Amino acid sequence: MRIHHLDCGTMCPLAGRLMGGGGGLLDRGLMVCHCLLIETARDGLVLVDTGYGTLDCAAPRRLGRGFVAVSGPRLDPAQTAHAQVRALGHDPADVRHVVVTHLDLDHAGGLPDFPGATVHLHRRELDAARARATMAERRRYLPHQFAQHARWNPVSEAGDTWLGLPAVQRLAGLDADVALIPLHGHTRGHSGVVVRAGRGWLLHAGDAYFHHHELVEPRSAPPGVRLFQAAMQMDGAARHASQDALRRLHREHPEVEIVSAHDPAELARVRHRVATRAAA
Ligand SMILES: [Zn+2]
Repeated sequence: MRIHHLDCGTMCPLAGRLMGGGGGLLDRGLMVCHCLLIETARDGLVLVDTGYGTLDCAAPRRLGRGFVAVSGPRLDPAQTAHAQVRALGHDPADVRHVVVTHLDLDHAGGLPDFPGATVHLHRRELDAARARATMAERRRYLPHQFAQHARWNPVSEAGDTWLGLPAVQRLAGLDADVALIPLHGHTRGHSGVVVRAGRGWLLHAGDAYFHHHELVEPRSAPPGVRLFQAAMQMDGAARHASQDALRRLHREHPEVEIVSAHDPAELARVRHRVATRAAA
């Protein structure tokens, strides 16, 4: 399997310094929407998370004016997964599977660009996005991004484990080594996605954490990142338990590379490693 690391939605949030960037308090920060495009032998292309899509770029207002003002998404059509799949020489129709960590607006925006793909996700997440039961969930889940999608594969844990964590190891119709790891808290059904990568594993942890310093002890994160995560969480106890599980994994399993969705330093790190390996 070949794995591409894409940024499907650069964001320049307010108060960049508080979010971990340099510069002054009023300078904007930098966040990415780290997505994976996996070329498999038998299952076509698999996309992990989708960032923003062509609909979002065409009509940014649908994301919500407040969100656009605070997060500063670039919304460049060339950054959509759809455009990047093309730029890599593939037909977007060959994206047969999409696995999403959750359905927040900065992760589900690309779904309308892949109408034929089966979307795999935790059942709790699909239920939460459809119900939009709270004010916060009405802001974060945008029906125009996902309500029209026809092919869903909502999954739940059934006793499988992966390195000691509950896991859903068989995603229907997908033979490749891709599994869903429940990492709830940020949203009700938020999950990580594990992909076999050579002799080890790659774990895309979505928004279970936001800054690479959160994976090591003593953990730390820029104050704005901590505030943002607390403000966005649907279940604080579950979110902390998810981060504890990731720290244990990071400590005990060096064969697992963990990345989150929005940390630009992690994206730069994996791209550098992929490039140096290709050159060797
Ligand atoms: Zn996010």
